[in-house]
Amino acid sequence: MKPDDFLPRPERVQPLATHPHATPLYLTSVWECESPAQADAMLGGQEPGYVYQRDGHPNAAALAAKLNELEQAPHGVVVASGMAAISTALLATVGQGDHVVTASRVYGKTLQLLNAEASRLGITLSIVDTNDLAAVEAAMTDRTKLVLAETIANPLLQVADLGALAELAHRYNARLLVDNTFASPLVCRPMELGADFVMESLTKTLNGHSDVLLGYLGGRTDIWPRVKQVVSAWGFSSSPFDCWLAARGLATAHLRSERACHNALAAAEFLSQRREVGRVEYPGLPAHPQHALAKQQFTGQFGTMVAFELKGGRAAADKFIAAAKDIPFCPSLGELSTTLSHPETTSHRGLTPQGRADLGIAGGTIRLSVGTETPQHICSALASALLQV
Ligand SMILES: *Cc1c(COP(=O)(O)O)cnc(C)c1O
Repeated sequence: MKPDDFLPRPERVQPLATHPHATPLYLTSVWECESPAQADAMLGGQEPGYVYQRDGHPNAAALAAKLNELEQAPHGVVVASGMAAISTALLATVGQGDHVVTASRVYGKTLQLLNAEASRLGITLSIVDTNDLAAVEAAMTDRTKLVLAETIANPLLQVADLGALAELAHRYNARLLVDNTFASPLVCRPMELGADFVMESLTKTLNGHSDVLLGYLGGRTDIWPRVKQVVSAWGFSSSPFDCWLAARGLATAHLRSERACHNALAAAEFLSQRREVGRVEYPGLPAHPQHALAKQQFTGQFGTMVAFELKGGRAAADKFIAAAKDIPFCPSLGELSTTLSHPETTSHRGLTPQGRADLGIAGGTIRLSVGTETPQHICSALASALLQV
């Protein structure tokens, strides 16, 4: 063979005679165009087809289509992370001099994005208790473009009145962005309640196997050209392999959610009976302050997250976490198996002690992400750890 025989040449993938049953993984950064006219039409959005991976690829499109159906969202896009989804909604709606109203109880990085990053672009911010609708209304200005709230807030699981927040936002010509990560569309569908955007960190329950970082943003038609432009120009696009894995995880999300929500109620009821435990927070418990609202807004499931406070404070939390060998301390959520987190030293460590106290977080606060084991296994793991506090 001559050296020239080894030169790279265009590889032509032959169409297959039969259809693969499972979705193939498309690892190609670019697609071949048939003609300048076709390229022009595809890039202009008049014809379907892929040209360049940053603008879209089949694995992201397949995953987004399933999520759009679950969320009842007219449009959706899968991006590199949950934070990329929030950034996309922000950059698609807000410009210099505009104003955002956010719930005080949001994911720590979301607050950092709005406080430290968006402020550099001249975007102003009000942080309010979104369970206090009068406080939300008082914060609205004629420059408010976006209101942000979480369906179920971290870590104490307050439930937001999404219908009322959407109505209020729309009255001021603002859009409502709902972070639905703690609920997932199997528990709540914010678009049906009037939200303009819904986002999910697919990293959590929807992928559910702790091996992928991805986000989803669903939204309405009028804003969608802006969303596509932001994803491509800011480079928030997702990796085909991660989308392929997440589509596989999503295929069992309804089974995992049903089992884990059932287990979460069992764990919450079990913890409520224990003398070592003070408050137990779970939207499915009748004692939860927004239980009635959760019943009205949710699908009949109440989520997989449970928070509780050990009466013995930080010392008891240290002993509990050391003893809970079957419940690893992982500061994330939505895994197959039950995990726990300690908000004081992880998600909320950036706050002052007073800031944490204002949110109801103490040294003894433990947050559980309940998994798909049997309820007996979870309750006995909790019981044996409680014996040590
Ligand atoms: C994890 C999380 C995010 C961010 O998602 P990433 O995929 O980690 O970027 C946003 N909101 C909530 C409620 C989360 O739990």
